[in-house]
Amino acid sequence: MSIVNYLKESILKRLIKVEDGRVKMFGKIDYIMFPGVAMAEFLHQIGKDMGEDYLFDLGYKAGLDGANEMIEKLGLFANSIPTNMNIINSMFETLGFGKMNIKVMHSEDGQILLTLVEHPVIEYAKLKYGNKTRVCALYRGIFSIHAEKDLKVKNCKLIETQCVLKGDAFCEWSSNYFKKSKKT
Ligand SMILES: [Zn+2]
Repeated sequence: MSIVNYLKESILKRLIKVEDGRVKMFGKIDYIMFPGVAMAEFLHQIGKDMGEDYLFDLGYKAGLDGANEMIEKLGLFANSIPTNMNIINSMFETLGFGKMNIKVMHSEDGQILLTLVEHPVIEYAKLKYGNKTRVCALYRGIFSIHAEKDLKVKNCKLIETQCVLKGDAFCEWSSNYFKKSKKT
């Protein structure tokens, strides 16, 4: 079935409708958001069954290929670190990984501090599960390996000190930044 026919049929069957200028599925889920919604539910369940550290490790391992690919395809080693930081920032935002703001970075000391907002999966998880979910641990793992490989931050294992899921304005992640870890 072509995408046009699929959409026509879905509208006829009232599976999707346009409401307030947005396409809604089953009358409630924002259609554009659907991949993020499904991901949030999936990650929430894994986090619940296996724990936050498991989610982090999963992201750290799964992100390795992507991090290496970015070095190769984007020729990251030829650039300065600030240039790479800008490339990664824009790429992550375009790909739906939220808006990242790197506040402190000293690659050679393995030091980094960043904040993250408007991550679609984290935002949806917050709506659905409130502070009972730890889905952002997966992205903390992914960002850790990207910072380590693409920005050369040594042994980067980001910890979380503020979290959107706990009601903070942003997720705050850092490695080797706070002398005493405030990890919660
Ligand atoms: Zn968080």
